[in-house]
Amino acid sequence: MTDLLSRSLAAVWHPCTQMKQHESTPLIAIARGEGPWLYDTDDKRYLDAVSSWWVNLFGHCNPHINQRLREQLEKLEHVMLAGFTHEPVVALSEKLSALTGGVLGHAFYASDGASATEIALKMSLHYWRNLGRPDKNRFVCLEGSYHGETVGALAVTDIPLFRDAYAPLVRTADTVPSPDWRRASEGESPADVARRAAHALEAWLEANHKHTAALIIEPLVQCATGMAMYDAEYLRQARALCDRYEVHLIADEIAVGCGRTGSFFACEQAGIWPDFMCLSKGISGGYLPLSLVLSRDAIYQAFYADEVSRGFLHSHSYTGNPLACTAALATLELFERDNVIAANRERAAWLAEAIRPIALHEKVRHVRQSGMIVAFDVEADRGFSRRFAQAALNRSVLLRPIGNTVYWMPPYVLDHTEIAMLGEQTLTALIESL
Ligand SMILES: *Cc1c(COP(=O)(O)O)cnc(C)c1O
Repeated sequence: MTDLLSRSLAAVWHPCTQMKQHESTPLIAIARGEGPWLYDTDDKRYLDAVSSWWVNLFGHCNPHINQRLREQLEKLEHVMLAGFTHEPVVALSEKLSALTGGVLGHAFYASDGASATEIALKMSLHYWRNLGRPDKNRFVCLEGSYHGETVGALAVTDIPLFRDAYAPLVRTADTVPSPDWRRASEGESPADVARRAAHALEAWLEANHKHTAALIIEPLVQCATGMAMYDAEYLRQARALCDRYEVHLIADEIAVGCGRTGSFFACEQAGIWPDFMCLSKGISGGYLPLSLVLSRDAIYQAFYADEVSRGFLHSHSYTGNPLACTAALATLELFERDNVIAANRERAAWLAEAIRPIALHEKVRHVRQSGMIVAFDVEADRGFSRRFAQAALNRSVLLRPIGNTVYWMPPYVLDHTEIAMLGEQTLTALIESL
């Protein structure tokens, strides 16, 4: 085991990691997974309370997804998607279209979330160009937004640490105020904060719509900035404003989609559909890299022409990989077979019950929940996040706070006992790390 860790530190450059910190914080070598549990090479287990960076929906080594992948593996592992097609990619596209009531009926595929963001940005800009309006080529996003870390996606990612480091590479988008309800002043409700932020968006669009292709937002929860939650009213107003000012609405449901906020798509809770929807992370059940952008027929039609240059110019080698699409189909089958959206209502109630004792702690602020996401802020010094993560690991729970925000984003398979354990160990780790 020690050998594996030192080999990893020598040969693997780990993501989102200052490698020098591993001088004091050990890596963990995982040997196997089962349901919500990960087992290290010494067979110590950890409850995967963050779904392995928000991707795993139905546990590790899920028997149904494994079986469907084995069957597909014996038929076809991959074929290029230009000039060719195959059953898994067609079936998945049809299913996703049906889940949007046919509104978003065209699926374009890639492999990671950042690429889905870039595809949506490129499609929006190219749409306006095809309509003879090439000046509409700028984008607007929310303060604190996160839409991925490749150079194009960084343009709409408002995380100062990233923006500063790579500024010379990036054509930065403008930001408008976040509807985050923690910004409420005395006497304001979350809906009031949403209306105030929508007002600011309106003023911005009034001044800038002529040069703006799209607004990109994460519906209901801005996850990576620290689980900033907001009222669905903002989405309704943003939809209406985008229509009025002829600006596309891109919904990045990479983290909040696939049942995470309590409905299959977060947008459903506002009763709106975007012009583009980005999906990744949970869509393949956490099995294989897969992302996609769903778009409306009016957008698709603007690209449909004789000239190659009017077509959408984008490709990835693994576009629509049959194994990844099969994992996604198996994931959607589980949603239907186990009536997961309904079952998660009970699970979300257990999470609410488990967070209650933590909410009473004097250093805890802004306890919040959106379906299968629970978060709270902690009044603590700068080293809190690492101390807490280590304390939680010592207690067999995998949690990675974002700054001083602790959150749960577990797979949809935790039972009542596991959720109670998650609550107890989170409180203990909190007390130990303050
Ligand atoms: C994770 C994430 C992305 C980027 O996805 P990657 O697969 O990590 O590139 C984009 N948007 C949101 C909202 C995300 O949570």
